[in-house]
Amino acid sequence: MGTTTDTATSACAMAGSRCAVPSSAMRVISTLEQAGHEAWCVGGFVRDSLLGRPISDVDIATSALWEQTESVCLAAGMRVHRTGTKHGTVTVVCDDDAFEVTTFRVDGVYSDARHPDSVQFVRSLDEDLARRDFTINAMAYHPMRGLRDPFNGFGDASRHTIRTVGDPSQRFQEDALRILRAARFSSQLGFSIELETYSAMMAGKSLLSKVSSERITAELQKLILGKDVCRALLSTVDVLSAVLPELVSMKGFDQCTPYHSYDVLEHTARAVAGTPPYPLVRWAALFHDMGKPGAFFKEETGRGHFYGHAKISVALTRGIMERLSFSPAFKERVLILVERHDEVYEPTPKAVKRALARVGGDVELFRALCDLKKGDASAQAPAYAAERMERADQLRRVLEEILAADEAFSLKHLAINGKDAMKAGIPQGPAIGDALNAALDDVIDERIPNDREALLAFLENFASSINKE
Ligand code: ATP
Ligand code: MG
Repeated sequence: MGTTTDTATSACAMAGSRCAVPSSAMRVISTLEQAGHEAWCVGGFVRDSLLGRPISDVDIATSALWEQTESVCLAAGMRVHRTGTKHGTVTVVCDDDAFEVTTFRVDGVYSDARHPDSVQFVRSLDEDLARRDFTINAMAYHPMRGLRDPFNGFGDASRHTIRTVGDPSQRFQEDALRILRAARFSSQLGFSIELETYSAMMAGKSLLSKVSSERITAELQKLILGKDVCRALLSTVDVLSAVLPELVSMKGFDQCTPYHSYDVLEHTARAVAGTPPYPLVRWAALFHDMGKPGAFFKEETGRGHFYGHAKISVALTRGIMERLSFSPAFKERVLILVERHDEVYEPTPKAVKRALARVGGDVELFRALCDLKKGDASAQAPAYAAERMERADQLRRVLEEILAADEAFSLKHLAINGKDAMKAGIPQGPAIGDALNAALDDVIDERIPNDREALLAFLENFASSINKE
């Protein structure tokens, strides 16, 4: 069964000082134990410590009931918030660090493939570890007693393997979200999914229809932000297809063009991995070429073309983002990136300012577009990739020069505004926007300076040309 303290010590030595339990967590653990309870660090903290990965939260599991945790920690001068008492969880704040402290528990029956109908508090740590999803997540660590690892999570971590605790089909039937969690840990950690676990993911994937779109989106986002996203997307696509069926037609779709040496799916997976890991650009990269199978046609020579694919990608992206769970503002920004990913811009200040104006002067969005173009280029045939990546870098450099020189590229930079347009006699309504945009075009194209007097004269002319119509 469990490994010894010696194993724990050597395991931690492997990962160096990052294994250290923070002193504030030690205080919470010793406060509970001095009151006669048992307490351990559990879950992601133990896994990530052993792997030498950066640590996020430290979760603590204890034999104390939440009411006992609350009173013992309050008496020790800590703050306590009742964040999930139904499941035995309170958040304890000690020296400005917050810890979720949860009573050892087992989950009751899952009748909806997602939430246990009830939880039952138990006395033993091992029972609590047994309810956890994967062996690498079912280890506990104690500052004095070392590692508790009844399911050999350490062995699986060393072999870079994701395996469920217990029978995989049963574990996925209890909670279908675990199917996506396996895929996202595979991407985040660079681990493979053990064969039986993967077969059960495939067999159980239809249960994902019972999982809320918020939880699906959250897991997919963690997956696409993972360091091993390319391999994870390619190796789990047949599972992901249950929530993203649009991926199916990309798989194995030969592009028949010298610019590409990978099928649409592999190109996409490589493009995602070729972008920096932030949500906006990674989602856009995932969606950017989804329209290719729909837009495809072949010349007599056998050469493939995808004219208009970006528009089809936009339509598919819109459908996915409405089905999953995204804020309208985020969705709109992703759609702009997908729509424009293939537009060609000269790396000149004028062209870049015009392109910036077309995305509403949103500098962050334009930076993301440069990142997307570079990631897209990196996933093209080697003969073309380097040159196209350099083009994206050039755009980025021109953008930074424009920003450094404080040059005008959006209406808010203009030395005139809507009031000036009205004063010049332009009627209220869309004509005001037309006038200001026309002024901005002329400033960007250096036909007039961004100078108040010159622009007022421009407005006068604009007004009289409207009045003549
Ligand atoms: P991260 O916080 O980086 O996403 P984590 O492993 O800490 O990773 P959490 O979702 O914070 O993941 O969950 C904490 C722990 O709770 C997990 O390590 C696992 O032991 C357990 N756990 C979480 N979700 C589930 C689940 N759906 N089924 C079973 N156990 C789970
Ligand atoms: Mg966590």
